[in-house]
Amino acid sequence: MYTLEKSKQAFLEAKAYMPGGVNSPVRSYRSVGSEPPFISSAAGDRIYDIDGNEYIDYVLSWGPMILGHAKSEVVAALQEAVLRGTSYGAPTLLETEVAKKIQAFMPHMEMVRMVNSGTESTMSALRVARGYTGRDKIVKFIGCYHGHSDCLLVKAGSGLATFGVPDSPGVPAGVAADTLTVPYNDIEAIRDLFQKEGHAIAAVIVEPVAGNMGCVPPVPGFLETLRELTTAHGALLIFDEVMCGFRASSGGAQKKYGIKPDLTCLGKIVGGGLPMAVFGGSREIMNHVAPAGPIYQAGTLSGNPIAMTAGLATLSILQQDPTVFKRIEQATDMLCEGLRERAAKYNIPVQVQSVGSMFTLFFSDKPVLNFDDASACDMEAFKKFFHYNLSHGIYYAPSQYESNFMSAMHSPQDIEKTLAVAEEAFATL
Ligand code: PLP
Repeated sequence: MYTLEKSKQAFLEAKAYMPGGVNSPVRSYRSVGSEPPFISSAAGDRIYDIDGNEYIDYVLSWGPMILGHAKSEVVAALQEAVLRGTSYGAPTLLETEVAKKIQAFMPHMEMVRMVNSGTESTMSALRVARGYTGRDKIVKFIGCYHGHSDCLLVKAGSGLATFGVPDSPGVPAGVAADTLTVPYNDIEAIRDLFQKEGHAIAAVIVEPVAGNMGCVPPVPGFLETLRELTTAHGALLIFDEVMCGFRASSGGAQKKYGIKPDLTCLGKIVGGGLPMAVFGGSREIMNHVAPAGPIYQAGTLSGNPIAMTAGLATLSILQQDPTVFKRIEQATDMLCEGLRERAAKYNIPVQVQSVGSMFTLFFSDKPVLNFDDASACDMEAFKKFFHYNLSHGIYYAPSQYESNFMSAMHSPQDIEKTLAVAEEAFATL
């Protein structure tokens, strides 16, 4: 009998000490109206809670654990590393090793700066873009999430393009005003915006495969248009590949779609499950970053040896096995195809969208191309599907607006089991 009694107690206690009982809002399960399992351990593609439940994990710490949890080589490297001390605040050989590895996967990242989170990465990349171009305005797409720095916590207004309105109390209106927003995948809207504001735009930042309104691929011509417009108007194109890097393809979305961004942000996988992220681009641009140049950026724990060790071990394994990305993608395709078939059998209208090893099952009768489409999904059906799966050992992201992930450890048997549970869940809808 599935129970979360201990987790419920733990959640109550946690709420007395931390806002909402969590350290990042989505973990509270508010969007699915229940209490979250409290996790005690994870291994391979499994995650375990304090109530003794075992789940096949498609959240994977929101993406990082592409090799599965507690990968033995990564764990061994970390065990050795901690014995040498956990932080020095001084240069190490490891950082250059990691930078070289990143460049091997993403050759456009000629120089990088290591940071501690995806939020820092996008925040810093935007500062570089503004410092480099001498302009203030930035463009983001509605429904894309780039972390929680002030100027990026801005969502849409209606119409083709709106001046930003803060998404959260505490974000000054003046800061948000420089963030222009347009609908994702809307080529006409971005052309229109550049025609009016092109001279003032420092950068366009985009999830080249959107993952934060669920998995939404770019329509043909969208990324190409961004490249063309930014180049023509002297603005920088920033690919936020914090999520889709190493997932859209081995070289991220930039390799998959053949577009060269000016700056790239990476996080999640690049740190192998530790707090580590990075931004980078051409030597010419990155040499403007302090201390080589005047644009300030810094961090006490940036380039931390433990985080570098996890990242290096993870990237090394990915590099040594050139078939790994294809295999994970095939597993994702197999699961997605199976989900489509099972839903069709019960006449449930769904769109199972995937790119590489990211996927989302949308309860929608038409393809989801942007945030409005995602918002129009049947959220009640999603909730029921989610809860049925959770209580039967399948751990999906607890929101229709999230992407799920596949790892190298998900076996065909695990996928079969997942599909069997999905079929039962569809039958209840
Ligand atoms: N950019 C993207 C595309 C993300 O998906 C996220 C987090 O999910 C971030 C940035 C922020 O990263 P972090 O949560 O490490 O600050």
